[in-house]
Amino acid sequence: MTISRRALLGAGAGAAMLPLLRAEAAAPFAGRGAPAWYRFRFGEYEATIVSDGSLPLGKAEDAFVGARPGEINAMMQANFLDPANAVLEQNALVLNTGRHLILFDTGMGESMGEASRMFGPTTGRLLRNLREAGIDPAQIDLVVLSHAHCDHCWALVDAQGNRNFPNAQVAISEADLRFWTDDANKRGPAFMVPFIDGAKKNLAAYRDRMIMVQDGQDVVPGITAVSAPGHTVGHMIYAISSGPNVMVYTGDLAHHHVLLLRRPLLEFSFDTDPKQSAQTRARALDRFATDRPVLLSYHFPWPGLGRVAKEGEGYAWMPAPMDVTSLG
Ligand SMILES: [Zn+2]
Repeated sequence: MTISRRALLGAGAGAAMLPLLRAEAAAPFAGRGAPAWYRFRFGEYEATIVSDGSLPLGKAEDAFVGARPGEINAMMQANFLDPANAVLEQNALVLNTGRHLILFDTGMGESMGEASRMFGPTTGRLLRNLREAGIDPAQIDLVVLSHAHCDHCWALVDAQGNRNFPNAQVAISEADLRFWTDDANKRGPAFMVPFIDGAKKNLAAYRDRMIMVQDGQDVVPGITAVSAPGHTVGHMIYAISSGPNVMVYTGDLAHHHVLLLRRPLLEFSFDTDPKQSAQTRARALDRFATDRPVLLSYHFPWPGLGRVAKEGEGYAWMPAPMDVTSLG
């Protein structure tokens, strides 16, 4: 079906329409995107979501597996999304607790040369956007990692291996630290080699500044690590609370706001253990739909804030309204 301009305007209306304003002072196109950060109050904290840019995965059917033939394409199309290119966002969180300035995940960065561009030129913008948001990387005193994949930890260092966050400690699960710094795990899919090389380079620079997070433990007061394994062996999500307010930073619990919410048991091609990942996701989504915390989902549409609600056999993503006036 095509919709003509005339049909959209109503029968007959198009013929009589003339532009109301003649262009006499054409402005040049700006050609540059806006800085991508969003700031809001969360209880006693100030939160800033900072984008690392978008991450195009290519064909949705290749990245998300386990569906019936045609099902992925149909779900994408029904949601006005391109089946030929599933595009994820990268929404990192900076949390100012008043005592600590904490960055959750770092984005792709530029530490690994060509490999840092394996998803194209649109990633690696976190440091620039941090500065645009008025945050000096040297102020960050803790980087909390959900896991040690490229799009979450490769901006810990620059191309020379120097720390981008010179005053930060790094919190990560011991399971992920061990797994992604062990050359013996360079087997299976081709991406395992750069993934391990990149994790080694980035994490090595913080060797004497590591905090091993454990399931159920507070990283700092108000931020509790919750084990959510499968995407990686030690994948963690984090519950952030201030008074009665709870927000869950869900990392890579679900990579797609339609496909993996409607069908939580589908598998994702970058999962270390896709079956375990699917079970972890299904359990967590069920709990979120019941408890209704605000979620910050790293890969969901910018800025990644919302809630999930039970719908049919799966869940629907309900974006949270953004109160842009909350900070005056
Ligand atoms: Zn990711």
